[in-house]
Amino acid sequence: MSQTQVLARKWRPKRFIDLTGQDHVVRALTNALDQKRLHHAYLFTGTRGVGKTTIARILAKALNCQTGVTSNPCGTCSACTEIDSGRFVDLIELDAASNTQVDKMRELLENALYAPTAARYKVYIIDEVHMLSKSAFNAMLKTLEEPPEHVKFILATTDPQKIPVTVLSRCLQFNLKQIPLQFIAAHLRHVLEQEHISCDGASIQLLARSAQGSMRDALSMLDQAIAFGEGKIEEAGVRSMLGAIDQSYLYDLMDALSQKNGVQMLTIADAMETRSLSLDAALQELAALLHRVSLAQIVPSAISEDMPERERIFELAKTFRPEDIQLFYQIAIHGREDLSRAPDEYAGFTMTLMRMLAFRPEEASTAPTMVTDNVAVARSSSSTKSGALKEDTAAQRNANILSDPQVARNSWTADTAEMVAPKEAAEISVTSPDSAATLDSDRWLAIASQLKLSGMPKMLAQHCEVKHFTPEEIELCVPEIHRHLLDKSYQDRLQVALREHLGKPVRLKVSLGVVTGMSPAELENRGKQERQSQAIAAIESDPFVRELVENFDAKLIVSSIKPIQ
Ligand SMILES: [Zn+2]
Repeated sequence: MSQTQVLARKWRPKRFIDLTGQDHVVRALTNALDQKRLHHAYLFTGTRGVGKTTIARILAKALNCQTGVTSNPCGTCSACTEIDSGRFVDLIELDAASNTQVDKMRELLENALYAPTAARYKVYIIDEVHMLSKSAFNAMLKTLEEPPEHVKFILATTDPQKIPVTVLSRCLQFNLKQIPLQFIAAHLRHVLEQEHISCDGASIQLLARSAQGSMRDALSMLDQAIAFGEGKIEEAGVRSMLGAIDQSYLYDLMDALSQKNGVQMLTIADAMETRSLSLDAALQELAALLHRVSLAQIVPSAISEDMPERERIFELAKTFRPEDIQLFYQIAIHGREDLSRAPDEYAGFTMTLMRMLAFRPEEASTAPTMVTDNVAVARSSSSTKSGALKEDTAAQRNANILSDPQVARNSWTADTAEMVAPKEAAEISVTSPDSAATLDSDRWLAIASQLKLSGMPKMLAQHCEVKHFTPEEIELCVPEIHRHLLDKSYQDRLQVALREHLGKPVRLKVSLGVVTGMSPAELENRGKQERQSQAIAAIESDPFVRELVENFDAKLIVSSIKPIQ
C-alpha cells in the first residue's frame, strides 16, 4: 500500500456517526433505517471525495448486519467485517466509468434475480453511474421497475444531470455537500492527534483549504505532507509541497495596489514569472485572499484564530474599502477565465493586475486634496443641521477631517461614491481672472462652456473664434454662416455673462469674418468624434465583447456606445 493511501483508508469512516459534514444525509438515512423504511434504490450525489461511496458501504452494512437492519451496524459480525474488507460476496461494487458495456450490466442484472448467497440483501453499488450507456440504463431500469425483494441499488454520481429521469424517479436521492473547511481542519487535527504527529495550525488550514471540500483529498495530502516532512509537518514544507504560491507575493501585490504603484506591481509580477510560479494559481490564490479580506471586513468572526497570515488579512481589510475588494475579486476571477485567451500567461496576469489599478474608483490624489477636504467639511457641516444625534459624529468627523487629510478623503468617498475628476481642478484654473491675458481657442472653449448662457447667446459663444484680445477687450469673429448670431441683444447677454465669469468688466467686439475651425462648437464636435471612435475601438477590442461577436454571432450596435464623460 502506498504511503499516500494510508490515512485515507485507515480513517475512512465505518459508521454513520463517524462521517463528517454530511449530517443532513446521515440523519435522514438513520431515521429511515431505524423505522425500517427501506427503498430499492438510493442515489448519492456530490463532488469527488465528499463521502458518497463511504456512505454507500456503511449503508450496505446497515442493510446486512447480522444484528438486523440497523442505523448502527455492529462492525464485528462477518457481514460487517467482510464488507469493510471488500470481501462480501453479496456486495457487488462497480465503477460505471470502466463498465459502460451493456453486456456487463445485463449480466449483473440477470444475476440480481438470484437470491443472495449469505446475506439479507444483494447490494449493488454503482459509482459514477451517469457514465452508463443508454442501453445499460435501460437494462437497469427494467430491474428497477420490478425489483426483486432482495436487491438494493446504491448509486453514486458526481453528475446527476446525466442520469435519465426514469431512473432518477425511482431512486431516493441524497445530495452530499462539499465538506466545510473547518470540518476538514477539525478532522485532520483529530487524525494527527491520534497518530501522534505534530503539526501547526497554519499547515492544517492550508491542507484543508487545498482539499476544496473533499475529505479524501485532505487525508491524501496529509499523508503526503507527513512523508514530505519526514514525520513532522511545518508550514513552509506544506506550502512547497502544495505548490502554493508564496503568499508574500500576493500581500506585496496588494500593498502596491493600495499605493496605486503600477511599477511595483509589475516588478512583483516579473519576480513571480522569473521564479516560474503558476500565474493561474496565483490568480486563484489572489481571489482566495480577496475573499478572506472581504470576510474580515464584513464578518470578522469568520476568520479563524489559526488562519495563516491572519494579521495581514486584517491589515488589508482596513486598507481597502469593501467595494474595492469586491471589485478586485471579480477582476481576479475574470482574469483567470481570460488567461487561456490571453497572448500568454504573463500578459493575462499583468493585464488583470492593471485592471485592478485602472478600474479602481478614482480617489482624489495629492494635488486636489484641498478641494476634497473642503467638500468633505461642507458635507459634514450641512449634515449637522439635520439633527442633534448626528451632530456629534459630524463634529467628530470635522475634527478628523481637519487634522487628517486621509480621513477627509475616506469620508468623502464613503459618503458619495462620486469622485472629483482632476479635469475639474484644471478648469478652475482656466477661469481665474487673468486668464483673458492668455486666451486661446482651448481656453475660450473652456470659458464658453461655463458661461451662464442659454439659447441663442450660448450659440453665439460657441460658434465664434477669438480673433484678438487684451485684458480689457475680447474680439470675437463669427463666420458668415452664423450671421444671425450677431444680433445685438445676444452680444449684450454674452458680455454680461463674461463679466460675471471673469469677475471684471470686459469690452466685447463681435464681427463677421473668416474662421479657422477652432470655435468651441467645432472643437467640441471633433473631440466628441474622437472620444466616440476611441470608445468604439475600446469596446470592439474588449475580449469579452469579441468573444460574444465571434462565438455567439452578436452584433455591436455602434450607435449605442457612449464614451464615459
Ligand atoms: Zn454487523
